[in-house]
Amino acid sequence: MAGRPSVSRNTGPVVGVLALQGDFREHLAVLSSLGADARPVRRPAELSEIGGLVIPGGESTVMDKLSRAFGLAEPLKDAIRSGLPVYGTCAGLIMIADTVLDAISGQQSLGGLDISVRRNAFGSQLDSFETDLDIPVLGAPPVHAVFIRAPIVEAAGPDVRVLSSLPDGRVVAVEQGSLLGTSFHPEMTGDTRFHEYFLDRVRAAQ
Ligand code: GLN
Repeated sequence: MAGRPSVSRNTGPVVGVLALQGDFREHLAVLSSLGADARPVRRPAELSEIGGLVIPGGESTVMDKLSRAFGLAEPLKDAIRSGLPVYGTCAGLIMIADTVLDAISGQQSLGGLDISVRRNAFGSQLDSFETDLDIPVLGAPPVHAVFIRAPIVEAAGPDVRVLSSLPDGRVVAVEQGSLLGTSFHPEMTGDTRFHEYFLDRVRAAQ
């Protein structure tokens, strides 16, 4: 995309990880291991240096408050609107959803993905669990997915592609245009295929 920095010398694409809260260090480590020039993003000016952005898991209510307090929310919305590839995991998926169900009072999202997500959708009895998921775009074997107080995609618009669902049909991975989102945490399992898939999208956007 014009004006967007492409590839830093001798490395892969420059990819930011929103580093306000949550498990951003794990994403930085995975992206670096795949050859990306991975950088924490905390300031609006840093957005102009990246060709893609990961929004990590953590707590969407806190990430929302901090992104607004640090003046990042509006620049992030602008970047998403202008086509910056963004991958949101768990709380990050909530951040890029147009509609958040079971939000706390006043909670906002950045939006971009034409979906409704429900926070903490598995209830207190099943706060966290792990399961193997078939993800056709990633091929075999199935992805071992870790869910931690995870959201579910309850509704998706016509332009949203469902990448994976649980056996009961609940949607847990989606993409739309330059946006990718998973309810679960690939940065925790050592399976790098989701990050590779995202890096391919970042390269394709350059
Ligand atoms: N429940 C958290 C939220 O609403 C998300 C949990 C996670 O990112 N692991 O933001």
